[in-house]
Amino acid sequence: MSMLPSASQADNFCKGCTATVHISEEEIQKLFGHVARIRSVKLTTEAEYERRMQTCRACEAFQLGTTCRWCGCLMEIKAKLQASTCPAPAGSRW
Ligand code: SF4
Repeated sequence: MSMLPSASQADNFCKGCTATVHISEEEIQKLFGHVARIRSVKLTTEAEYERRMQTCRACEAFQLGTTCRWCGCLMEIKAKLQASTCPAPAGSRW
């Protein structure tokens, strides 16, 4: 059995990273710990983070429960960063 996505699946997956976006909550927390230790990184409020994630979870570009198809970012990390923006081509959603 092929591990590659079919043509129709490939349309819905981030290019070149389908293996790495399947990560556990524990791995997300570990990755976020590395980001949070960088002093110059400003974090958003918990309320803003939840607002952003609710928008992402309802978005057709949110893939595999983790990743934005437009930027390839893990949204549970990106949405916590104050300076982050939504990269939707039709206009930022948050
Ligand atoms: S960052 Fe924007 S385009 Fe990407 S999944 Fe979230 S709402 Fe959708």
